[in-house]
Amino acid sequence: MDRDIDVLVHEVGPRDGLQATNLIMSTDGKVEWIAALKDAGLRKIQVGSFVPPKLLPQLADSDVVVRAAKGIGGFAVSALVPNLIGAQKALDAGVDQLNFVMSASEAHNMSNVRKTRQESLAEFTKIVDLRNSDPSYAHTTLNGGIATAFGCTISGVVHPTCVYSIMERYMEIGADSISISDTVGYANPKQVQAIYTDAKALAGPIPIGAHFHDTRGMGLANAFAALEAGVRYLDGCLGGLGGCPFAPGASGNVVTEDMVFMIEAIGLRTGIDLDKLLHAREVMKRLLLKEPTHGALAKAGVPKGFVPATRLQSATHPGKKT
Ligand code: ZN
Repeated sequence: MDRDIDVLVHEVGPRDGLQATNLIMSTDGKVEWIAALKDAGLRKIQVGSFVPPKLLPQLADSDVVVRAAKGIGGFAVSALVPNLIGAQKALDAGVDQLNFVMSASEAHNMSNVRKTRQESLAEFTKIVDLRNSDPSYAHTTLNGGIATAFGCTISGVVHPTCVYSIMERYMEIGADSISISDTVGYANPKQVQAIYTDAKALAGPIPIGAHFHDTRGMGLANAFAALEAGVRYLDGCLGGLGGCPFAPGASGNVVTEDMVFMIEAIGLRTGIDLDKLLHAREVMKRLLLKEPTHGALAKAGVPKGFVPATRLQSATHPGKKT
């Protein structure tokens, strides 16, 4: 974490958002959008996913987008991978963070990546070995993701012990960080507070990230509960992109701009400029054509007299006399 921020917001729209759209955005369009996000102050952006193009044609250009994003510079470039083949491609493209994905629910993991959870963990072991095998990969950190951690569209309730045992395995294998995800929008704030409190105690110095979907309107409440539990790494999608295939018309990921507004309003710094973030949203909306977007801040605007924590802190920086 950079010293000048308190919370790192990880924009995942170009991956989690675009994989749910009907539209296939052009590579140039993605790069324009990513550059606008960087200009707004985002420190980490997930720009693609290394899965077979047949499965996700929207993200078939991920290697080109990763290279272009690295060319823009000034932020960490992350990408999602489900297996060793994807990891090899992501490492070769030069990602700064590789986000491995598996599900806490065995049924969801089988359906999503066609592996048992044990097979997925064995795959992650090979990915750690691969990263460690070549000094040119040394800058790439490996994040172990746990999807469907709060409930599953196939098996319903997911017991927290499933989450903690995958976390323990990730740490034994050598994950640099771990993300716990409410992939399908089942979580509630009390559950979030309980699970992240336990997860943080279990993880010790390993950073824990949170990923929420707003499918049932709980996105921001859950993000706040995670912050209260001490989580400082949060995913979001500009305009709440990323609808759920099991709930047509439902909203998608937690809305980045609304979440940044909340974080700044409660006195934590993201390093993000809200006006420029809303500009990046306009860039995205133009490129998305008729795809639906969500969010409250873009409609209502920033309140009169609002001073974000990021600006307050830079105004009272110890380097300056105040
Ligand atoms: Zn997601």
